[in-house]
Amino acid sequence: MNLLPLQKGVLYGPIASRRLGKSLGINLMPTDYKLCSFNCVYCHYGWTKVHTLDAEAYADDMPRFDDVTGAVGNALASELEFDYLTFSGNGEPTLHPQFASLVAQIAEMRDRYRPGLKIALLSNSSGLNISEVKESIRRIDVPVFKLDAGIEGIFKDINRPCTGINLKDITANLHSLRGFIIQTVLINGMPGNVEEEDLDAYFDLVEDVRPEGVHIYSIDRPVPNEAIARVLPGKLEQIAELGKNRTGIDFKAFFLRQEAY
Ligand code: SF4
Repeated sequence: MNLLPLQKGVLYGPIASRRLGKSLGINLMPTDYKLCSFNCVYCHYGWTKVHTLDAEAYADDMPRFDDVTGAVGNALASELEFDYLTFSGNGEPTLHPQFASLVAQIAEMRDRYRPGLKIALLSNSSGLNISEVKESIRRIDVPVFKLDAGIEGIFKDINRPCTGINLKDITANLHSLRGFIIQTVLINGMPGNVEEEDLDAYFDLVEDVRPEGVHIYSIDRPVPNEAIARVLPGKLEQIAELGKNRTGIDFKAFFLRQEAY
């Protein structure tokens, strides 16, 4: 099995998503390399090629505003069936310099053509430092933010953020939002995040930011760092139960090999 190939256009799918039903993906990042503010040890797209928080210099490699709205408009006007439009793709979508305007325009198009459709975002949370990005989250029906650790050192070892990103700021930003989902990838090995003290700190942090729910996963595909290993479904279930009891928040465990990706 190989790493996942990069998405080759603005739209991809619809894919049968584990939590979003039929989801039509929107890729705002370049199509021939991964651009992200993180370089997670488990990223299915492989190592990050352009590791930055400031993507302005790479804007020419990203789809233009009209290309994105044109592609989404065509999909909305077509017979294609999908339940969600999901900002995700080859890196961190909120790094697109026009992310906030694109969300506003696409939400307007959705209201006009398919009012029942939901808009989702899969984000690593680092873009929330930008005020327009943070403001745009209220237009997204299902914002999903990555949070893999409650300890700064583990966050750095697993997510390998670029300079200027720390867990404290991410937590503060999440704390000021409401109605979002946390997505967590749990892994064994070096680095890992499932030792008792790791989980204790993580549950405290989840309790502090008060998401609507938490989705926990492990890995099921090849990953760039071979020193990490999968957390088995039974253990994920136990951790979800523990999280629910500790925080009062709805934790759900997803088993990657038993469902369509
Ligand atoms: S944040 Fe997402 S795209 Fe970026 S490196 Fe991590 S898993 Fe990959």
